[in-house]
Amino acid sequence: MSFTLAIVGRPNVGKSTLFNRLVGKRLALVDDRPGVTRDLREGEARLGDLRFTVIDTAGLEEATDESLQGRMRRLTERAVDMADICLFVVDARTGITPTDEVFAEILRKRARHLILAANKCEGRAAEGGLLEAYGLGLGEPLRLSAEHGEGMPELYSMLQPLA
Ligand code: GDP
Ligand code: MG
Repeated sequence: MSFTLAIVGRPNVGKSTLFNRLVGKRLALVDDRPGVTRDLREGEARLGDLRFTVIDTAGLEEATDESLQGRMRRLTERAVDMADICLFVVDARTGITPTDEVFAEILRKRARHLILAANKCEGRAAEGGLLEAYGLGLGEPLRLSAEHGEGMPELYSMLQPLA
């Protein structure tokens, strides 16, 4: 049995970096319905012996006329509804922003399984943001550095029982 993981969170927290790390060059398919191209990227992820589908809410980062809030809600809800598990990524260097709080609210209500991940955790600059992430009330944040590949064994340990 495989599962679908959606990587969600506000722009610039490192979602696509993590997606690329999980998928590598095996990018399988892009949503090709008219008007939604590149909004959601879907790929075949590998992590240890796990094989699963991963969705990146890529369209958040593209400039359109629609407000970020509106687009965020629409894309995130679509990704969440496609997913068995949501990985909610926050930026431990920036700390928690009001936009992160909006995401937390959507995900708390809607996600089947929710894993909170604090990205950019390499180095000491992440300590304050990590504490703020605890304050979201979504449990202990998983410490990741998507760019440096840190936290992947811990991500595996969280996903493996759900597979
Ligand atoms: P997205 O908008 O959420 O998809 O974020 P991106 O994956 O495009 O990353 C946004 C920025 O954060 C880029 O400049 C990345 O290089 C950087 N970034 C991603 N992961 C990490 C990380 O683990 N540590 C640090 N320091 N920067 C990162
Ligand atoms: Mg992105």
